Amino acid sequence: MSTTGLEYDGADLGKDALLRVEDLRKEFGGIVATDATLGVERGSLTGLIGPNGAGKSTLFNLVSGFLDPDAGRVYLDGVDVTDRRPDEIAQRGLLRTFQTPRTLEGMTVRESLLVAPFDQPGESILPLYFQPGSVTDTERELLGRAQQLLEAFEIDHLATTPSTELSGGQSKLVELARAMMTDPYVLLLDEPVAGVNPVLEAELTDHIRRLNDRGVTFLVIEHDMDFIMDIADPIIVLNQGRVLVEGSPEAVRTDERVLDAYLGGVS
Ligand code: ADP
Ligand code: MG
Repeated sequence: MSTTGLEYDGADLGKDALLRVEDLRKEFGGIVATDATLGVERGSLTGLIGPNGAGKSTLFNLVSGFLDPDAGRVYLDGVDVTDRRPDEIAQRGLLRTFQTPRTLEGMTVRESLLVAPFDQPGESILPLYFQPGSVTDTERELLGRAQQLLEAFEIDHLATTPSTELSGGQSKLVELARAMMTDPYVLLLDEPVAGVNPVLEAELTDHIRRLNDRGVTFLVIEHDMDFIMDIADPIIVLNQGRVLVEGSPEAVRTDERVLDAYLGGVS
């Protein structure tokens, strides 16, 4: 194995990092939200944890192009994607979900999947509207893909349900299925099981593992410690915008710096 020569806290930055973030910085009103260097290895299911306000969601916004950084670089599969638009980054294979899924008013679950490929800000192609009798090849392909995903995620019985009538857990499942419409190879999930009942949480866990087994690389933010310690390895701990610790769930769980950061976070 070769090393990149880039290090933080004495630890090797992912040697085969698919996603690499270097000194990526964002301030809000003079307060540093994120100033991080980290790597996510190809094929990994990496966790991102840290106290409230640690800068986790901001990091996702910077990496996925929803926010412009004040400084630093983002590399996706060796390509510098800093300052690219969300739709360009999505086209390169990185997609993110939101802590609070956006409401898709007036759309059924199937329709919400069909517009997913055209849903990134900056995307110039308008959503396609499906009119009986005038289905193009592209539309036929999208319809087929949506149907496959509805079945794979076991939500085909919800295909014609209005998106606004889904439970919190069902919305998270639909969000994950929607993300898969563009066939990403890196998925950033922001709190995928927050507020989800145990049955749906188990289903979501299975789906995330299945996709990871098929080669999708994950970076997952989650406050539920049992969930993240169970599903992710390694785990990166962010505190005050910076990487505090990276390691196995066991190492992170017992690290005093992590305990201190969390205790500090609630005081
Ligand atoms: P986390 O997701 O780890 O809880 P965030 O990335 O949401 O943390 O927030 C990190 C810090 O940046 C917090 O202090 C938060 O208040 C601040 N912040 C995040 N987004 C904005 C924004 N759009 N405007 C001003 N401050 C923000
Ligand atoms: Mg957050």
